[in-house]
Amino acid sequence: MIRRRKTLTIMAIVVISAIGGHFVGERVTESLVPSVDAAGGQVKGANAVAPDRYVYYPGTETLAREEIRVIACGTGMPAARHGQAATCFLIETGNGDKFIFDIGTGSMANVAALMIPYQYLDKVFLSHLHTDHMGDIDALWAGGWTAGRPNALKVWGPSGQTPEMGTRYAMEHFLKFVNWDAVTRSFKITPVPGMIEVSEFDYKGENQVVYRENGVTIRSYPAIHTGDGPVSYDLEYAGMRIVFSGDTVPNKWFVKYARDADLVIHEAMMTPQQFMTFYNQPAQLAWRTCCEFHTSPQGFGKIMSTIKPRHAVAYHFFNEEGTRYEIYESIRETYSGPLSMATDLMVWNVTPEKITERMAVATEEAWSVPGTAKQPPPEKGRPNPTSAEIAAGRWDTTDVEKAMLDAWAEEHNLQDQDWRKMKK
Ligand SMILES: [Zn+2]
Ligand SMILES: [Zn+2]
Repeated sequence: MIRRRKTLTIMAIVVISAIGGHFVGERVTESLVPSVDAAGGQVKGANAVAPDRYVYYPGTETLAREEIRVIACGTGMPAARHGQAATCFLIETGNGDKFIFDIGTGSMANVAALMIPYQYLDKVFLSHLHTDHMGDIDALWAGGWTAGRPNALKVWGPSGQTPEMGTRYAMEHFLKFVNWDAVTRSFKITPVPGMIEVSEFDYKGENQVVYRENGVTIRSYPAIHTGDGPVSYDLEYAGMRIVFSGDTVPNKWFVKYARDADLVIHEAMMTPQQFMTFYNQPAQLAWRTCCEFHTSPQGFGKIMSTIKPRHAVAYHFFNEEGTRYEIYESIRETYSGPLSMATDLMVWNVTPEKITERMAVATEEAWSVPGTAKQPPPEKGRPNPTSAEIAAGRWDTTDVEKAMLDAWAEEHNLQDQDWRKMKK
């Protein structure tokens, strides 16, 4: 991650060894290094707290009405890695809405670490149907079902050249893939949160409105990436615009419609050499991956120099010491404006006045946080997916559980019910 550095007065003690063994301490007040937009305060006493400018602690800040918060919950590649999930950006708007743009493999652990009640995490916008952009839909679908989402999951996504290449087909067949899960959970919990409402729109639509509600407008336009179907999105709220490229080569629609946006998130691939060195790709595939069906760092830079966002975000590369500087320098060949090299849990706050970049510091052991919503009750009359024959095989542990369960029933005023019947 490259941080922009602004105004920090550093204090350094320059120790100079002088002839005769003297040491001279000198206070340096001018910036010797570009400053960090961080330590903007003072610790006012031995037991006082330090000013907190570096990090975002999830769930501790309200959004202003005219503010958008964007959190990178996945910035990596299809190949799984512990430290970087595949593509996912959460966008929170000052009106209280939350939108998940792509939900790539592994990204739900980052979304969950933000400790947002699942009732608010019910709107997903898919840029395209590669698994590194939708692979963790299962974790959101089932995780939300078991942790409080009261309604169906809502998924927006593009059509394809044929119905089988579209979002509706993908979601309908996802539900077939998870059929056993859905049938059993529907019986044990409640069926409604296990449903998916799909809004499929024409992938060829140019700057078409695909969502408009509550002061938020989301538009799409075509992207060019491995086959027809992929799109880029533009979210507009309170006069500000966040643009998300999805996966694409540089294209005319993006350069036309993303112009003058506030925060522009666009893919920037690793260099061909990096694909060969780190990703074990042959030379032919390495350049094609970088630059034929994705956007090279130089191409990313040219796009940003042309559309001039207030702040550019590069993503879709494994971001580490071995890769980031070469990608950064390659972008800087063609773009000199504000830039974030995205990695997971990077956070941007966008207001009409300023855009800040920070890192979220999230617990490794987040639980789901209850919201205000209540799930509907179980649906009566559904057939029990456990047969009497299999249920009869249960080995009786009532003798060791009885005291515990009786106490539980009394404490919570439960009727004499399920666990006793279950034993029979
Ligand atoms: Zn893709
Ligand atoms: Zn991708």
